[in-house]
Amino acid sequence: MTRRGLLIILSSPSGAGKSTLARRLRDWDPTIRFSVSATTRAPRPGEVDGREYHFVDKDRFAAMVEQGAMLEHAEVFGNLYGTPAAPVEQALTRGEDTLFDIDWQGGQQIRNSALGQDVVSIFILPPSMAELERRLTARAHDSEAVIAARMGKSLAEISHWAEYDYVLVNRDVDACEQSLRTILTAERLRRGRQPWLNGFVRDLSAEGARPLSG
Ligand code: 5GP
Repeated sequence: MTRRGLLIILSSPSGAGKSTLARRLRDWDPTIRFSVSATTRAPRPGEVDGREYHFVDKDRFAAMVEQGAMLEHAEVFGNLYGTPAAPVEQALTRGEDTLFDIDWQGGQQIRNSALGQDVVSIFILPPSMAELERRLTARAHDSEAVIAARMGKSLAEISHWAEYDYVLVNRDVDACEQSLRTILTAERLRRGRQPWLNGFVRDLSAEGARPLSG
């Protein structure tokens, strides 16, 4: 009997190291699939349609929401983002784990949905706001105005930290990655996530009830 997959939700303010950690987690365990969101924002240099995001226009996004094709959706920094539901549902029943890089609004919606029992949510905090700003500036994808706006939004995102199952402070990315691996390892071992145990323990009991040989 296959276990249901986990829905691993990673949230953090921009620049706290979430994308790096998401990539490292999937390098560690390539069976974890990444939920590719749909967004109305323009691709950044190096981003590939269908890999980082499905880049869609507002009409297409609205149609997906209308058809009930989104598991959750939210406006972030003036753009629309949403999680297509079908791939997530397929992964769950196949027993595959899915990783979501989504904001607190998306985390809240999935946690409060019928799939809430499958959620493991993790919030990544920066070591300081100065360090967060340094990382955002070093990344240099965005203009100064966008960076300033993101710093403003960071505090709002951080204010939702207590809604998450686990909270990591990203002082050191290697240590943080190790903590993520530990969380996943433990979550996969939860009794309710090992449905085959019932049969296994039944067999153990039957074996134990037989007279000892020799
Ligand atoms: P970015 O534009 O920098 O890739 O992402 C901006 C923010 O939107 C990040 O905090 C990211 O986690 C969030 N985000 C990305 N995809 C989704 C999604 O499908 N749903 C929600 N709610 N947030 C998302």
